[in-house]
Amino acid sequence: MSFAEQWPAVEQFIQSLQHRVLPDSVDHWPAAELAELQQLGADRWNIPAEYGGDELPDAEMMQLYRQLARGSLLLTFILTQRNAACQRIITSDNTSLAEKLLPRLCRSELFATVGISHLTTSRQHLNTPAVQVTSDPESDGYLMNGIIPWASAASTADVIVTGGTLQDGRQLLAAIPTVRPGLDIQSPVSLLGLGASHTTAIQLRNVRLAADEILHGPLEKVMSHGAGGGAGSLGTTAVALGAAEGTLERFQREAEARPDLLQFITPLREEAAKLAADFSAAAAGDTSGKRSAEALRQRANSLVVRSAQSWLAATRGAGYVCGHAAEQAVRESMFFLVWSCPQPVLEGNLREFTCSGS
Ligand SMILES: Cc1cc2nc3c(=O)[nH]c(=O)nc-3n(C[C@H](O)[C@H](O)[C@H](O)COP(=O)(O)OP(=O)(O)OC[C@H]3O[C@@H](n4cnc5c(N)ncnc54)[C@H](O)[C@@H]3O)c2cc1C
Repeated sequence: MSFAEQWPAVEQFIQSLQHRVLPDSVDHWPAAELAELQQLGADRWNIPAEYGGDELPDAEMMQLYRQLARGSLLLTFILTQRNAACQRIITSDNTSLAEKLLPRLCRSELFATVGISHLTTSRQHLNTPAVQVTSDPESDGYLMNGIIPWASAASTADVIVTGGTLQDGRQLLAAIPTVRPGLDIQSPVSLLGLGASHTTAIQLRNVRLAADEILHGPLEKVMSHGAGGGAGSLGTTAVALGAAEGTLERFQREAEARPDLLQFITPLREEAAKLAADFSAAAAGDTSGKRSAEALRQRANSLVVRSAQSWLAATRGAGYVCGHAAEQAVRESMFFLVWSCPQPVLEGNLREFTCSGS
């Protein structure tokens, strides 16, 4: 079945999610909803055809993230982390590892996640790399020690794509089975939002890495090699924009009984439409002017936060009660201020919030 034929079922799933509030505490894992997503073919979407996937173009994948985030940020986020892991495998020269992993990922026999933020946005101010890599005296591979500070869905994943830094400053990325001795997945961390993503840290103690498990490197700045959505990429904007659009759709439903709210929703929806047009142009390759990845992410961050806050204000005390979709939207909107958010985007949002100009 082509993706176009699958789309109505995906849209129906998104619509059904719009009317549900998925529990977001660490005690919950959205197994049933993820299984539904897999049945809709989500694990195939980003995988090349030669490995059994649908090989959707990047622009289409981004629109999919946007649409899915209208329904559930939790599910979309878990999928993006899984796909980020796949992407690093797809762009690797290590084709034998790709042949081993990608068909199984595609068939949902394996689940993967990514723990790479310590090579991009996390712990950048520290002198010692979060994950140190040394030669393994007993093989032609390596030993990994340290801590992967962030990995979502870690307890469910069979494979984690992660990396570390050698003594000479070069870095590598590898795909490691999560059952590898010395790899200790911590308990899921309680979070402001998205606790059900089971995000946590992973301790590495002399974790053996075989040479044939390396995907990229060792080389300088390994994260700038091998395409596929770095920190603050357009894909992350797709998720933020979709989350804002989903919030505004729910807010709009509130206005059905209270038309006085429309005066507040309308400007937000107009802003979302303008951002969506610029985002779509950027996804199609036009990143000129205000359509740079950073500028779009900054606008999306601002919109998702203001949309959720406006909706909460409109829902009054009822929306402030735990379990209401509006309070969840407010908490989840904060996620974009910290997740995969490069320094210039963060500074832009801070300037806006503190009214400190540009
Ligand atoms: C819910 C969630 C899920 C995530 N999932 C994943 C995932 O699956 N995979 C993945 O790779 N990443 C993931 N991330 C990581 C994310 O993309 C960011 O890298 C992360 O949020 C950055 O925050 P940090 O606290 O690690 O940043 P840091 O910059 O390391 O900040 C940590 C602390 O150090 C302080 N600090 C910062 N700079 C300085 C300085 N110059 N001097 C002194 N102190 C300083 C800060 O104030 C802060 O208190 C996730 C994050 C969240 C919140």
